[in-house]
Amino acid sequence: MNVLVLNAGSSSLKFQLIATDLNRIQRDADERLCLGLVEGIGGDAAFTVAVGKSPKQKRKVPLANLSAALEYLIRWVASEQSGIPGVRGFADIHAVGHRVVHGGEAFSESAIITDETLKAIEACIELAPLHNPSNIQGILVARQLLGMKTPQVAVFDTSFYHSLPEKAYLYALPYRFYERHHVRRYGFHGTSHRYVAYRYRRLCNLTREKTHIITLHLGNGCSATAIRGGYPVDTSMGMTPLEGLVMGTRSGDIDPAIVNIIAEKEGLSSSEVEKLLNEQSGLLGLSGISNDMRTLQQKSQEGGDRRARLAIDVFCYRARKYIGAFLACMDGADAIVFTGGIGENSTEIRARICDGLEWAGLKLDATRNGKASGQEQQISTEDSTLKAFVIPTDEELLIARDTVRCISGQPHPS
Ligand code: ADP
Repeated sequence: MNVLVLNAGSSSLKFQLIATDLNRIQRDADERLCLGLVEGIGGDAAFTVAVGKSPKQKRKVPLANLSAALEYLIRWVASEQSGIPGVRGFADIHAVGHRVVHGGEAFSESAIITDETLKAIEACIELAPLHNPSNIQGILVARQLLGMKTPQVAVFDTSFYHSLPEKAYLYALPYRFYERHHVRRYGFHGTSHRYVAYRYRRLCNLTREKTHIITLHLGNGCSATAIRGGYPVDTSMGMTPLEGLVMGTRSGDIDPAIVNIIAEKEGLSSSEVEKLLNEQSGLLGLSGISNDMRTLQQKSQEGGDRRARLAIDVFCYRARKYIGAFLACMDGADAIVFTGGIGENSTEIRARICDGLEWAGLKLDATRNGKASGQEQQISTEDSTLKAFVIPTDEELLIARDTVRCISGQPHPS
């Protein structure tokens, strides 16, 4: 079955075509037929694609809006010009899996898209006004081009967190805000945390019930999740993805009173301050140089840039603080799993975060850590009681697999 995986944002669109089915899932034999990205939607967009193992190709295409980009992309995938083996028309796209950012309290797992589910996703727009509308557009354009007979599945960033206990998801605000406005912790990056938890189980030959880990997704967005018995018991992102760890441009945790202080002192509205916390803070705000960890590492090493070093210090300190907090929340863990662009690739950041966690039983093996980048690998010593792993994430693969499982009426096991 060829599953088109769509991750539609307001100005960019990521996609993959993955050949998979229940049998392939069992054998870990899914095949990525193509992957790509449309960026700069709203003008002369950049369309980048790699078919099979061929090198990436990039071209400019005028795409006025997301709808035009979706239509262009789906028509391209289904065309013979794409050169994707076995694909000659719309009929060769057998199903579509969508990343949907917010499923609110309505979705505890991935769901086949019907008129009813679509309505429930629309009802979550108030919780994710920047994301859910783009995801819905993806669903509608795919429906229009591929017809109602092509099944579509929504895979939510939030649904993994349905197991959070009340004490972890409630904020200490007047309870009526939860009742009236659904103000609570939802958690995000769920597909990534769920995928690496599943790979950890496979790697260590454990059952779900025996999975007690802290997963750290460190990319542009960063989040930590405490998983006990295979299910999340707490997570760092909150009502929105702004809470928790220091990120590329997001502040993570701050004293909420700061919003008003900055608004008054800088003459900004509260939504302008929120935008600033989302887009100009984090590594970028602290360093004044970049949101990109590689650039900051380079600057702090070469020229000894103080602010670049400071940004990295705060980033690693906050991550370690969450590990400590989660170890207490979940009565200890067996392992810490690093994923995301930084978590998968930066030997130094992993070492900095783990440094000083010997009290908790974590001893990093410098050689293993140095070799681990980009591949599944244990990076702690054999005698560590708290182990550490690098496990590259693959959200698209999980979306494709959930799509197959939902269509086949099989509840998702991972
Ligand atoms: P996104 O959250 O947008 O998917 P990624 O998961 O790709 O982003 O992570 C992007 C981050 O990963 C950037 O800060 C980038 O600098 C960082 N990164 C990628 N490779 C390395 C590396 N080798 N060393 C340090 N940081 C890296």
